[in-house]
Amino acid sequence: MVTVSRTTVAVVGGGPAGVVLGLLLARAGIAVRVVEQHDDFNRDFRGDTVHASTIRLLDELGLGERFRALPQSRLDDFSLPMPDGSRLLLGDFSRLAPPYDHVAMVPQWDLLDLLVTAARHEPSFDIAMGLAATGLIAENGVVTGVHLRPRDGSGEPEELRADVVIACDGRNSVLRRAAGLVPRAFRVPFDTWWFRLPRRSGDAASALTPAFSDRDVLLSFPRPDYHQVAYFAPKGSDAVLRAEGIDAFRARVARLRPDFADRVDTIASMDDVHVLDVRMDRLRRWWRPGLLCIGDAAHAMSPAGGVGINLAVQDAVATAAILVPSLRRGLRGAGLDSALAAVQRRRRPPAVIVQSAQAVLHRAVFERAFAGRLQDGPPLLPVLLARYVPPSRGLYARGIAFGPLPEHAPSWARR
Ligand SMILES: Cc1cc2nc3c(=O)[nH]c(=O)nc-3n(C[C@H](O)[C@H](O)[C@H](O)COP(=O)(O)OP(=O)(O)OC[C@H]3O[C@@H](n4cnc5c(N)ncnc54)[C@H](O)[C@@H]3O)c2cc1C
Repeated sequence: MVTVSRTTVAVVGGGPAGVVLGLLLARAGIAVRVVEQHDDFNRDFRGDTVHASTIRLLDELGLGERFRALPQSRLDDFSLPMPDGSRLLLGDFSRLAPPYDHVAMVPQWDLLDLLVTAARHEPSFDIAMGLAATGLIAENGVVTGVHLRPRDGSGEPEELRADVVIACDGRNSVLRRAAGLVPRAFRVPFDTWWFRLPRRSGDAASALTPAFSDRDVLLSFPRPDYHQVAYFAPKGSDAVLRAEGIDAFRARVARLRPDFADRVDTIASMDDVHVLDVRMDRLRRWWRPGLLCIGDAAHAMSPAGGVGINLAVQDAVATAAILVPSLRRGLRGAGLDSALAAVQRRRRPPAVIVQSAQAVLHRAVFERAFAGRLQDGPPLLPVLLARYVPPSRGLYARGIAFGPLPEHAPSWARR
């Protein structure tokens, strides 16, 4: 037996895009059901960087105080190691007006819990955990709902009928595929391997620390009680790294970061090292009648710059701001086409700009590093700018902290 339920907006995926959209729609009094395939948000090695644009939004939503109470560390600047061992300060967030003068590093599950807790205060909000969308329901070419199934395979299939479905189901979006929307993939030269190392007293408190050699890159950032570490190597190296084994991997980490040599033994085996097949792609068309893709489902971001969460959140804000007036006017199904197209028009340019900047970063930093050319020094132009035109450090910082065309909370969502 299939259980059928109904809502106004079905949001598939409880990541940053889905929960922010759910919260905003609920604050507008729109019936919304968020469907998340996992039972909780406790998945490690997801995006953690909360940029100033998102912190400002949380303040506008009245959630700033609760956000600042979460365990977090601050990123106040970012720099590149130079061949002589010094560091070149590229971006200086302290040049921005407080309190939006840093990037916060917050475990993603804490941020999602905070947002869902706030959303649960709204009577029109509903979230179903442990349910996976398996396909779309369509009538006369218009999406009218989603097929659902408990992720663990138990229980009966369900149908969730809705006036509009928003696919926030990430970079492997099932709904995008079901709608026949195919993203254009862009070349990425690296994959990433995530793991943890213990944090010891005396370790730097707030720096996002990159380290380069002539064949790989390591980035670490401190969590309250451990370091989250990302190792970058040329795309497709996973089989080689695993064949070489854990001792060789530990040696790579210690070579890049001699200060970690005293703790690499805590990586028990290659099972503790989680590979991320890095992808960067973007849909040409983000919507079909009755369906809209946002966040990673519309544009998977490279981890370069750590902007994925923030872009997904901004997409959600724009979607709510554009959809709510149409829904309040009683528009449904194909009547929402122009609103869905308007979301794409508004959010595609920031995605294009950021992905283009990431492609430049891939070439200027990662490809040079893998080719052994970073030892000669980073590319000249940013070095000259950072060294001799100090305001450029504020410009870099602003670009990263707020990104292009940042969104603000609509008045009806503010508290
Ligand atoms: C390992 C890793 C590290 C990253 N590091 C950073 C970083 O430091 N900073 C940063 O800003 N970005 C980072 N990113 C990118 C960032 O996490 C994403 O860009 C961002 O989370 C996108 O948000 P989203 O809501 O669009 O999608 P996601 O966060 O991917 O959320 C999608 C959600 O949909 C759910 N879902 C998927 N399929 C279904 C289905 N069929 N039915 C129901 N639910 C479904 C998933 O379980 C998930 O919860 C990282 C990504 C990864 C994978």
